[in-house]
Order: sequence, then C-alpha cells, then structure tokens
Amino acid sequence: MGRLVMKFGGTSVADVERIRNVARHVEREVRAGHEVAVVVSAMAGTTDRLVSWCREAASVHDAREYDAIVASGEQVTAGLLSIVLQDMGIPATSWQGWQVTVKTDGVHGAARIVSIDATDLLTTLGRGGSDTSAVALAAALEARCDIYTDVDGVYTTDPRLVSKARKLDRVSYEEMLEMASLGAKVLQTRSVELAMVYKVPLQVRSSFEPPDAASQNRPDGSGPGTLVCDEDSIVEQHVVSGIAYTKDEAKVSIRKVKDKPGVSASIFGPLAEADISVDMIVQNVSSDGETANITFTVARKDMRKALEVLQGLNDKVGYHELTHSFDVAKVSVVGIGMRSHAGVASKMFKTLAEKGINIQAITTSEIKISVLIDEAYTELAVRSLHTAYGLEGVN
Ligand code: ADP
Ligand code: MG
Repeated sequence: MGRLVMKFGGTSVADVERIRNVARHVEREVRAGHEVAVVVSAMAGTTDRLVSWCREAASVHDAREYDAIVASGEQVTAGLLSIVLQDMGIPATSWQGWQVTVKTDGVHGAARIVSIDATDLLTTLGRGGSDTSAVALAAALEARCDIYTDVDGVYTTDPRLVSKARKLDRVSYEEMLEMASLGAKVLQTRSVELAMVYKVPLQVRSSFEPPDAASQNRPDGSGPGTLVCDEDSIVEQHVVSGIAYTKDEAKVSIRKVKDKPGVSASIFGPLAEADISVDMIVQNVSSDGETANITFTVARKDMRKALEVLQGLNDKVGYHELTHSFDVAKVSVVGIGMRSHAGVASKMFKTLAEKGINIQAITTSEIKISVLIDEAYTELAVRSLHTAYGLEGVN
C-alpha cells in the first residue's frame, strides 16, 4: 500500500473527542496496510493563545523563545493522538519537530531534500506550517500526502463566504499555488510549492466525514476530496478555476511626486532595503503633466514600517501628500485556461462595474488577475465574479 502522510488541522483536533475521530482515520489507513506518518496542528485556538501570551509578556520578544513557546501546542496534540492510538491497539510514537528535522539544500525551484536528521534546532514555519511539514515529510519519505481539514476539499472559492462554491475534483499545482498565495488559506503556500517541486500527490479532504466512508476511493485512484496534481492529469479544463480574496494588504498613496526618471527607484529601493514587499503598483501622471501619483500595496503588518521609510524620503524625493488605508481587499481570479483565452480580464472589470465596485489597482500574471477594491465590497465582488465565470455548483 505504500507510505502515507496524513495531516490534521486545528479544528480537526480541537478536543479529545475529535482526536479520537482522527485516530479512527489513521486506524483505517494502517489497517489497509499503509505505513503512516501523521502531522498534527495545535488544538484550535491554542496557537492564538500562546501568541497572545508572548505579546503580553513583551511586545517585542526574542524569536527563539517565541518559537519555543508556540511549538508547544503541536507537542500536546501529537502526544494525545499517540495515547489514543495506543489505546486502540495501534503502536504509535510522537516525535517533535526538532527530533525529525527535514534538511534541504535550499528551496529555490529545484531544491532536494538531503536527509531527515535529528538535530537540536527548533524553529516554527509560521501559521499553517503543519501543511508544509506534512508535505516535506511526504517528500522525504516518498509518500503520498493527505491533508485533512474542516472542509471536504478545495472549492472554487471560500465555501464559508459563498455557499454555492463548488468542490474541485482536481486542481493543478500552479493554480493551487496562486490560490493559496492570493488568500485561500486551505493550504499554506509553501506546502503547495514543495509538493510541486517534489511531485508529492496531495489530497485535501475532510476529517469530519465518517472514518469508514472516507476509505472509498474512486476508481480513477483519486480520493473523496480534491487532488492537487500536475495540470496534464486534469482532463476537464476550465478557463477560470477559482476566486480568492485577502484582506492582508493595505494601500499607500503618494501624491504629486516629480515625474522624472528614477523616481520609482528612489521610492521602492528603500522599501526593499527595509525588507518590505510591495505587491500592486499603479502610477498615473497628474493633469499638470509635471507630477505623478503612485499607489501601491504592502502587507498590513508592514504598514507602520513602510510609512516610516516613506516619511524619511520626503526631503530627497519630494511629494505633496502621503496617505494610507487599511479598508481594502484584493480579489483574484485564477485559472490556467487564461493562458490561451482572451476576455477574462474584461469580464472581471465589467462584472465589478455593474455592481458599482471601483477598482483601485490591478495586477496580473499568466494565470491570475487581481484587483484591489474597497473592503466593504469583498463579499459582493467574490459572489458576483463566482457567478459571472459560471463556477456555481448544482447545490
Ligand atoms: P486547518 O486548521 O485544517 O489547517 P484552515 O482553517 O487552515 O484549516 O483551512 C481550511 C479553511 O480554508 C476552510 O474552513 C475554508 O473556510 C478556508 N478556505 C478558503 N478558501 C478556500 C477554498 N478555495 N477551498 C476550501 N477552503 C477554503
Ligand atoms: Mg491551515
């Protein structure tokens, strides 16, 4: 049957009863003959509580100690799951991140996992990091990877926002990567990146389905959830596969900067040096032809630092006004079919215009278009686009 990595997220292990349910899923795969490694998150709410304790202890705190504290949540779940499995007669041992370290030679496009090794290093991978741990482990063990969560797969958009969202049977690594990085938090972006590089077959499925029923895989080998796979293995291609949104960005506008060569470099250079990534950028020449207005987005958490950098530049760059806003959302349509189909962008703009939603910035790549809008219209925008691209399910 081969090796299988099973990952269970925070809501799936929220209490001991749910951990028992998780154990039944594990039991099913073990009894079916799999060699199973399980990756678990902290019980829902635990990590938030640990983070808030760190902040309460000191607003600026040591990164090593933060990792030591925040990593404790997963240790508890792993131990509890082992106890429950042992009680069911299934041999199980819990291992902490520092006991099983996956070493790589760098993760830039073609990284190889060098070894799984015991070291005394302890770090955390950030929120959603257990997705990435699971995929890394699967790559190292040459195993398949099943991600169990509180929804039964990857949907055309967040099913919590749009009830008519449809479950995708398959989605390509490329599309999933875009969707994850554009806000679909069902998988951590880096987990998809790793799965793509190491060709780990990745399946997203529900931990709340009865442990027995979930064992009924389809004849084509795919499971009951969503398979994230190579685009070649997807028969039914859609122009647009999904809509994602995020409220993690904020907008900065600089009005009336001298419109001359080098001005963008003099603004974005210092931001980059301060380690602030800029996402969307719009520049337009004002009516006098002498000056320009520049609008761009940064992560909300970077705003304070960005404003400090920009205020420090006024002497050198010279601008009339610096404003910022947190009331924005980025809405994106994603699909590999866009490579070969025209009209996807115009449909997006027309749909939003019909709803009276103003577009504040636009950015595109080969397989996605993102727009920045007023945060208050996020839900309306996502729903309208979901309908406009014909993504609705039958339910
Ligand atoms: P876990 O704790 O299991 O890691 P997460 O909360 O990180 O779970 O991810 C699952 C959530 O992702 C779902 O509850 C859903 O609201 C959200 N989500 C956002 N976009 C999508 C999407 N396109 N498909 C499925 N789920 C999505
Ligand atoms: Mg998650």
